Amino acid sequence: MTVTPDLLRSENFAEVGQILQQDAARLIERWSAQAVKEQPNAQRLHHQSLLNELPRLLTELGRSLAEASERNSGYCRPAIQHGEQRWEAGWSLGEVVRDYQLLRVVLVQYLEEKLARSLSSHELMAIGLCLDDAIAASVDAFVRNRDEYLRGLEQQRAEQDQRIKEELQHREEVLRQADRHKNEFLATLSHELRNPLAPLRNIVGVLELHETNDPVILQIREIIQRQVQQMVRLVDDLTDVSRIAQGKIELRKERVSLSAVLEQVLQMAEPILAAHQHKLHVTLVKEPLWMEGDPTRLAQVFLNLLNNSAKYTDPGGQVWLTSAREDNRAIVRVRDSGIGIDPEMLPHIFELFTQAEWSLSRSQGGLGIGLTLVRRLVEMHNGTITAHSAGRNHGSEFAVLLPLLSEGVSGEE
Ligand code: ADP
Repeated sequence: MTVTPDLLRSENFAEVGQILQQDAARLIERWSAQAVKEQPNAQRLHHQSLLNELPRLLTELGRSLAEASERNSGYCRPAIQHGEQRWEAGWSLGEVVRDYQLLRVVLVQYLEEKLARSLSSHELMAIGLCLDDAIAASVDAFVRNRDEYLRGLEQQRAEQDQRIKEELQHREEVLRQADRHKNEFLATLSHELRNPLAPLRNIVGVLELHETNDPVILQIREIIQRQVQQMVRLVDDLTDVSRIAQGKIELRKERVSLSAVLEQVLQMAEPILAAHQHKLHVTLVKEPLWMEGDPTRLAQVFLNLLNNSAKYTDPGGQVWLTSAREDNRAIVRVRDSGIGIDPEMLPHIFELFTQAEWSLSRSQGGLGIGLTLVRRLVEMHNGTITAHSAGRNHGSEFAVLLPLLSEGVSGEE
């Protein structure tokens, strides 16, 4: 007759079943001693609690084998709890399955010792069937608990992500608002400062027309003139930076020769370089370097850089201005032998209101706006600007890269 699981389930295995019921506690002890040897890495911390359900599992299993008429899977209930406990104790799925494999071996050995004979193939298969059911129930409980735990974790993580996202959004909004307020303040400030400046400039003009040889008056006139000029420069910078922040600066672009712009800048920078007794070295390429740009804003860029070189270099220093072509780009470098820039400061040098502490005394009333403007203007010309310095008292170099018109490649003069 073919052996089927149903057939095995309908058979009675009284001897085996009774031993299992009577000796459940002893069997568990053997199994447990063996298990600790076999799986020393499995967490045994909750060993005692793990054993709680096992005697019941074996008793139920024994009953099921002994009473075929009442064959039920009552042993599955403790198996489920067994699986849940092992998950809670931190076992892996592999360890749970190996534990049952061990139980099977221990059971068979014990029964054969006790019966003083080999188990029949039906007995072996029937025990195997029951144990397989128990493993399935145990593993199922283990996996269900694990999945629930993972789902919980996932939910926790999703909630946390959501909280972080909301917090970031909130902070972003606060920053944006602060930035808006700052921009509005800059716009109002530059506007309000401009108002009293206009009549002051007119007065300076009128004073210049007034002829006098009085040295005191001449000196006062000169001081007022200089201070008003300085104020005008600061307010112009402020106005520009607030316009940039609000995206209100527009370039008046035209086909322009960068070399011509640089020649013009040299003339404009001459007085400040001379005032500091700096030696200026100029190496400009002969070609015109045609580009699409706003000549006034381009001049502002290089004048600003030369002014900084003059300011941040001790009197009698060296300043270099060079231009070169690299394929379809122009590179203009403004270098000086001045106080240099701290390496930690370099990455921030183009940020608004950034001023290095050691240069403050030379800033001559600057506000840390110039380089922000310079970078923005260069970027509006699709160019880039970088700053280099080997550190304190090792000078600084600013390199500006600007795209040239392709017709310039043919060497048009
Ligand atoms: P300001 O000159 O008004 O302070 P800038 O934006 O032009 O503002 O420059 C920002 C800061 O960068 C300066 O305060 C100074 O610390 C540093 N800096 C700029 N140019 C140079 C330079 N050529 N050498 C050394 N430091 C410089």
